[in-house]
Amino acid sequence: MAQAEAQAPVKPATPRRAVESGVPDNTQFLHPLMRKNYGNWKYHDRPRPGVLHHVAHSGDQLWTVKAGTQRQMDVWTIRKLCDIVDQFGERHMRFTIRSNVEIGVSTFEKVGPLIEALEKAGFPVGGTGNSVSMIAHTQGWLHCDIPGTDASGAVKALMDELIVEFKREEMPNRVHLSTSCCEINCGGQADIAIIVQHTKPPKINHDLVANVCERPAVVARCPVAAIRPALVNGKPSLEVDEAKCVCCGACYPPCPPMQINDPEYSKLAIWVGGKNSNARGKPTFMKMVASGLPNNPPRWPEVTEVVKRILYAYKEDGRSWERLSDWIERIGWPRFFEKTGLTFTKYLIDDWRGARANLNASAHIRF
Ligand code: SF4
Ligand code: SF4
Repeated sequence: MAQAEAQAPVKPATPRRAVESGVPDNTQFLHPLMRKNYGNWKYHDRPRPGVLHHVAHSGDQLWTVKAGTQRQMDVWTIRKLCDIVDQFGERHMRFTIRSNVEIGVSTFEKVGPLIEALEKAGFPVGGTGNSVSMIAHTQGWLHCDIPGTDASGAVKALMDELIVEFKREEMPNRVHLSTSCCEINCGGQADIAIIVQHTKPPKINHDLVANVCERPAVVARCPVAAIRPALVNGKPSLEVDEAKCVCCGACYPPCPPMQINDPEYSKLAIWVGGKNSNARGKPTFMKMVASGLPNNPPRWPEVTEVVKRILYAYKEDGRSWERLSDWIERIGWPRFFEKTGLTFTKYLIDDWRGARANLNASAHIRF
């Protein structure tokens, strides 16, 4: 028996398969000519706004038509788009991070009919070169559980007014806009960003805290150490030192009984000058230039007005190839407020000097 066991073939261990939930390989969505000539382009140009023309060292040419979409799309809209690509394109399209769709074709003759079909179906063609991009926005009420506004709604209202700047290439440089529906701002940096701004500390429902929240996690979450464990009406709960609270809303996601969203006191703020790219200058962080704007659905007119003021002051005064942050750097903050007509207060354009001392840098519970 022992001998039989010794002779039994050893089964090779099956390697555990990685559980991948990341994005799929993007090359499968590229136009075959894009895949074939990847990294091997001789030059590219833009025959008109919304169209890119790539010429490869191999002699291949590819025209890419870029159109805006509404990002959160129903299945019928996606089918409509696919039908257009099947009929007028070459069965390949891809989405960009700013919710644009790019459709590649191998002959110039296909560009005109494709543009016509897209525009007829309500997809504006543009977004290339020095234009205003489609606005990147966070999930809003449809997907996330903590928003204080509907990012996609604010985007629709704003883009209705800025669509002409998407279709033209008349800005000094490209302009990226974003909207975020809470202060966590998962939308990232942008030239102009609209971000929720809570102005009152959270209201705590002490009856629910012990059942719903993991209190140490909530305490550790606060960036300014304003939350402490407390016993309220004989129940374990939490309390907030309101003098310290900066109304960031970070305690609300792990503890919904600490409600911070408020129809009156949750406002919107505008931040400017952020960028992720390394082109011409280093990436930059945004700074707040307008605050306390009403969170006013369904059209958010006060927000639109401020964004347009900043955008058109930049359009008029920015030099060729200056990003919005470069423009501000050149003219200085006092002239930025002068030119945009915005009111400066000491709470704006914080440069985070002193953050080391006044922000919470430890996960210890404080009593
Ligand atoms: S910005 Fe905030 S509320 Fe909006 S999707 Fe991101 S995390 Fe959710
Ligand atoms: S996490 Fe933010 S909102 Fe909550 S208590 Fe701390 S500072 Fe205030």
